Amino acid sequence: MFNIILFGPPGSGKGTQSENLIRKYELKHLSTGDLLRSEIANQTPLGIEAKNFMDKGQLVPDEVVIGMISTALETNPQVQGFLFDGFPRTDAQAEALDKLLQLKKTSIAVMLALDVSEDELIKRLLNRGLSSGRSDDINETVIRSRIHEYENKTKPVADYYAKFGKVVHINGEGSVDEIFNALCGEIDRRKYIDIVS
Ligand code: ADP
Repeated sequence: MFNIILFGPPGSGKGTQSENLIRKYELKHLSTGDLLRSEIANQTPLGIEAKNFMDKGQLVPDEVVIGMISTALETNPQVQGFLFDGFPRTDAQAEALDKLLQLKKTSIAVMLALDVSEDELIKRLLNRGLSSGRSDDINETVIRSRIHEYENKTKPVADYYAKFGKVVHINGEGSVDEIFNALCGEIDRRKYIDIVS
């Protein structure tokens, strides 16, 4: 298996790039944001609990998202690899993911981190809010709170993977194609190593 984490702050382009990457590399896309929004749409108990946190721009508790990812891994036994988008977002989630992947005798090949300035993020998210229908994209206070959560709890996750030499930073400002090409360059280099080793 070949597993990737696409990492970066809210609005850094993870969703857009994920769509292109899963098509090219035939990976299973696991976006905790999408999974949570689908739980909310179906009004499940998990969705109702998660919504309280998401509406305030706060992270959903670790045990909730870890449980969701664990189920998703079990229900997709035959895939060539996973692309994790928006997960892990805390050190506890990263440790849990490592353990879950170990059980499947696999691991994370690389964390691709998209770097985008804060001004650009806020601009993009407010703009997305005009059409996405996402309530957390409309209010600038909620957007700032999401970026704050990212700085405090999520950014350290990159240090966790850096210890294993697995983090690559990519400039997330530029055209969608330019960024996609940079991501593919890093994946291709590692996929080759993965195949020959
Ligand atoms: P974005 O990264 O653009 O903010 P996402 O769709 O990834 O959007 O996430 C939306 C919201 O869902 C987050 O603000 C957070 O409340 C919740 N969420 C998503 N993934 C996680 C996670 N791994 N851990 C905790 N909360 C999460």
